[in-house]
Amino acid sequence: MAAAITLEEVAGLRGAISGVVYARGDDGVAGEAACFNTAIVHDPDVVVGARSTADVVEAVRFAAEHQLPVYVQATGHGAFAPITSGLLVSTRRMTGVSVERGGRIASISAGTRWGAVVEAAARHGLTPITGSSTNVGAIGYTLGGGLGPLSRTYGFTADWVRGFTVVTADGRVVRATAEANPDLFWALRGGKGGLGIVVEMDLELVPLTRVYGGGLFFDTAHIEDALRAWVDWVHTVPDTVTSSVALVRFPPIDEVPEALRGKFALHVRYAFVGGEAEGERILAPIRDAAPAFLDLVGEMPTSQIGSIHNDADQPGPAWDRGMQLKDIDQRFVTEFLARAGAGSDLPFIAIEIRHIGGAAAEEQHGGTAIGGRQAPFTLVMLGVPVPELFDEELPQKSDYIVAGIMPWIADETNINFLGHVASTQQFASAWPADAFDRLARARTTWDPDRLFAYGP
Ligand SMILES: Cc1cc2nc3c(=O)[nH]c(=O)nc-3n(C[C@H](O)[C@H](O)[C@H](O)COP(=O)(O)OP(=O)(O)OC[C@H]3O[C@@H](n4cnc5c(N)ncnc54)[C@H](O)[C@@H]3O)c2cc1C
Repeated sequence: MAAAITLEEVAGLRGAISGVVYARGDDGVAGEAACFNTAIVHDPDVVVGARSTADVVEAVRFAAEHQLPVYVQATGHGAFAPITSGLLVSTRRMTGVSVERGGRIASISAGTRWGAVVEAAARHGLTPITGSSTNVGAIGYTLGGGLGPLSRTYGFTADWVRGFTVVTADGRVVRATAEANPDLFWALRGGKGGLGIVVEMDLELVPLTRVYGGGLFFDTAHIEDALRAWVDWVHTVPDTVTSSVALVRFPPIDEVPEALRGKFALHVRYAFVGGEAEGERILAPIRDAAPAFLDLVGEMPTSQIGSIHNDADQPGPAWDRGMQLKDIDQRFVTEFLARAGAGSDLPFIAIEIRHIGGAAAEEQHGGTAIGGRQAPFTLVMLGVPVPELFDEELPQKSDYIVAGIMPWIADETNINFLGHVASTQQFASAWPADAFDRLARARTTWDPDRLFAYGP
């Protein structure tokens, strides 16, 4: 424990908190601070497992009094660097979603995962604009903007936020909406960290119960035909279609379904907001491009939205690097497959390209801090889960791919897609320059002493 805090002081904090408080060395730290990315092991001076807004206020006041930097974690899906000092507020106990009968606003507590929001919304014939994985924390995700399987139709998730309740650096509980503290509201919609701890988020849901969607899998021999068809096709689809592709190396292990085990395949993900017949008609050029060995596309309730990407839901060591792309074309496919295609033996389990644009490219009335609105594609490389490769091998091999596709890489990106940040310059690229400067001013206003640790 840091010299600045005594066991008596920690005991005092424990007495003021309804949740749990652990100091470095306590048995409870590992479980409370555990991350979805198990390569990251946090070891802060103090961990507060908050149960309530009052707990968060006490924790923030304690940290300010003892000059401890404050971190916040819900699920650890966004954990990229170990926390080695300060106070970690864990929100994992603060779960809950309420949707007012007849209304369209979900009030979502700090530690809630998307799955719970999707379920609660479905009971009202509604759906939230989620990310690809329903296991991710709703608030951490939304603070970065949030691009998911319905984003071309409905925009970023943060576009649907109508209010935040936030514990600020001075230990106050404030509201941030279009009318109340609009500068903080602007910053929290995309600015991600360093502003306060969000204890509740009010999210507008959309009246949608079914989509036509799912995944198509193309075997190694058909990857090129399917990818070339997809790149042409995305330039023709309406905004009611959101899609992505992932080159996936499925490991030859029992946990992977037999049909996919050990294969190097292209996974095309598709979501159409509309009826089955029209959804099938629009998808036909992809189905016709090559034979899919697995076709899982069909009508589905929006409560199954997580099955479209079928992201891993078990914790494990993770390394990824992301960026956004300018418009891509057949030349891009040639360069990309020359480096990452079947002939290569790179240590990536997946390389994903998402088609965005559509509603996601439209700025909201009053604006948001979201980065990467204008780039039409994202690209993320997900390394093999071998921590020994994270420091050198994976960054080098990702540089090799980047060198081949450099002409298509956009200057700007989005913080949720950045992955492991190597430099402050890379971090800054997650927002347009003017938004980055405005965010710095908002952080100075709301956290003048930099209590909330954020950024490299
Ligand atoms: C499998 C997987 C799938 C993903 N899919 C998508 C996707 O489809 N679209 C997309 O946009 N992103 C996606 N992401 C990225 C994801 O949105 C970010 O990693 C996000 O930060 C995760 O939030 P979390 O709360 O679950 O993670 P955590 O690691 O718990 O939190 C990450 C950060 O969020 C902030 N934060 C969390 N809670 C609070 C709070 N209450 N108050 C203030 N700040 C807070 C903090 O800065 C914290 O460090 C995915 C990530 C993974 C691992």
